[in-house]
Amino acid sequence: MRDPSYDILFQPVKIGPVTAPNRFYQVPHCTGMGHRYPKSEAHLRGIKAEGGWGVVSTQETEIHPTSDITPANEARLWDDTDIAALHLVTEAVHAHDSLAAIQLAHNGLHTANRYSRCIPLAPSSAPVGSDDPVQARAMDKADIREFRRWHVDAARRAKSAGFDIIYVYAGHDMTLLQHFLLQRHNHRSDEYGGSFRNRLRLFQEVIADTKDAVGDTCAVAVRLAVDELLGAEGIRCDIEAREIIEALAEEPDLWDVNLSDWSNDSQTSRFAKEGYQEAYTGFVKSVTTKPVVGVGRYTSPDTMVRLIKKGHLDLIGAARPSIADPFLPKKIEEGRLDEIRECIGCNICVSGDNTCVPMRCTQNPTIGEEWRRGWHPEIMTQKAPPKDVLVVGGGPAGLEAATSLIRGGSNVVLAEAGNHWGGRVTRESQLPGLSEWARVRDWRLGQLKQASNAELYLESPLTASEVMEYGFPHVVLATGSYWRADGVGRTHRRPLAFLDNNCVLTPDDVMAGKLDTDRSTGPIVIFDDDRFYMGSVLAELAVATSRKVVLVTPSPVVAPWSDHTLEQSRIQKRMIDLNVEIIPSSRLENLVNGRLTIECVYSSRSHEIECATLITVTSRLPNDTLWTELQEHRDHWPEAGIQSVERIGDCLAPGLIASAVHSGHKFARELLGGGTEIVRREDVNVQGL
Ligand code: ADP
Ligand code: SF4
Repeated sequence: MRDPSYDILFQPVKIGPVTAPNRFYQVPHCTGMGHRYPKSEAHLRGIKAEGGWGVVSTQETEIHPTSDITPANEARLWDDTDIAALHLVTEAVHAHDSLAAIQLAHNGLHTANRYSRCIPLAPSSAPVGSDDPVQARAMDKADIREFRRWHVDAARRAKSAGFDIIYVYAGHDMTLLQHFLLQRHNHRSDEYGGSFRNRLRLFQEVIADTKDAVGDTCAVAVRLAVDELLGAEGIRCDIEAREIIEALAEEPDLWDVNLSDWSNDSQTSRFAKEGYQEAYTGFVKSVTTKPVVGVGRYTSPDTMVRLIKKGHLDLIGAARPSIADPFLPKKIEEGRLDEIRECIGCNICVSGDNTCVPMRCTQNPTIGEEWRRGWHPEIMTQKAPPKDVLVVGGGPAGLEAATSLIRGGSNVVLAEAGNHWGGRVTRESQLPGLSEWARVRDWRLGQLKQASNAELYLESPLTASEVMEYGFPHVVLATGSYWRADGVGRTHRRPLAFLDNNCVLTPDDVMAGKLDTDRSTGPIVIFDDDRFYMGSVLAELAVATSRKVVLVTPSPVVAPWSDHTLEQSRIQKRMIDLNVEIIPSSRLENLVNGRLTIECVYSSRSHEIECATLITVTSRLPNDTLWTELQEHRDHWPEAGIQSVERIGDCLAPGLIASAVHSGHKFARELLGGGTEIVRREDVNVQGL
């Protein structure tokens, strides 16, 4: 039963001509599926509705070939042929009595139109937002009329696809309507440029057009960036955003307000905590009587209630919390708070869209797999009889495998060598800014500790003979990996002999506290060939020793892969703010008596720097000794009663925590259901071939 203090979250909210059944609002978010994987998209959205989200939105939906953000997989309503794919989404959402929302988008100068090769459109002539050598052309009045017509056509198509809420979108520095609002993009001297009223004109016209076209049965929502964190260069919540909302206060049926650009809107837990948008969006409800939705990585029902009661929001917006746990509302409704799988704010979900593939999530391995693998986040399909399974290793892979197996009815014994659960997640969550990552461990451990079919043993390093002796029919090894100390990685493909006799630490050493006991006083040099978060996080830790810190990387910038998680510029800024000396585009050449020779990756020119301690962040090796030993005894497995031995997670191939969780989950599904590697495809159409 739910706690009555949460009743307020389950009140219906009227939004223009439609009514949301509760206050849980899945705001538009990308999935990396869009028009290219429509069945996957529809299934993902349907699961959210099943999980209790009263409103479920699509991602941005391109309204015309002049708004083509290929290769990203967004939704499309270029013409009537796109309606059927989106109808799949509304059907899936309506099947659970939720409202379906669509975020219509014209991307203006944000996009280079790589596929359609249309000339991008903008208020004024300007280069596009990407690095493409493409310029957008200034729209004339005929273009503006055409754009308004396209938006109306798209709104009508959205209505016929069955959507209940239709967005007019001016956010993320990604849309033509926002570009017209902004002085830095709009240099026009006609009635669509110059004064505030003129810059507002097109936005106001499009809201009115949309209401006229579909407002009889559909709610018209506005998504507006209320602050860009750019100071006077951009929209500020206390000046321009307030003026815009005051001017248009009652015109839309709903205000969906957030920060811009995307990296400010979807900040990671390393840089921002739950509720980080409140200071910017808090004013909106005082300016309009229309319902307001906002986001801030909300996972706590108490925080949600507080936001409603203090009149900050009417609807609790969520993208990432709804990805990490599509059943978050249902779990609150049914009083199952300890089952909520909280988002850890890592933005691996965002990396899916940014690399143009279906999304993935560290906490929820089933996201993106709803249609193609048939995975449901709450149901473990159990086609084969429950099994007795020994899981070796209690990191993310082992914990996920064990949790999924017990949910499918199997009996699990989980043995962990160390004196704590969580493996790398526990170690890494103690690094600067990563504390929320411990939620990966905590959710799984919470489930396992309550289960009668799980036995958990710490301080149990298992040997091959012990595994053979126990004779579990199924054994899964989740024994993890360790960081290499020999320099091998993407840049140096062979071991660096000069590292042997020097003071070299790996990330494992640093996490084990060896930097604290290092008596050297000279500079700490971090060689980051991993290129994601670890190098810069260790640099933050190293700065705390008060020694000089230098970060050497073969890349031109620090942590380039973190661009996909929207963190790169924040990481670079943090390194600069902490006075970490950054030496880009360089590899290691030699280390003698505290002098490190580094070499430019382009010119091979080298120079020496002082280095008292070198931390190499290069690559990892699987911790697969147990696997190798068990293979040696393979002939004796049957007499020991062992039917299968598998490897999962980092001990199979070191990777992201999200990959380890996915690997553990996949193993459990396959053991329970006899599944295979094969995924259903929808990117091929063999009809007529
Ligand atoms: P993954 O990301 O694949 O889950 P981790 O490195 O986070 O990998 O976790 C692996 C865990 O396995 C560690 O906590 C480690 O202590 C444990 N482990 C490694 N070898 C053994 C073993 N032989 N017996 C029990 N536990 C082990
Ligand atoms: Fe949250 Fe990370 Fe999952 Fe995204 S990938 S929803 S940020 S846990």
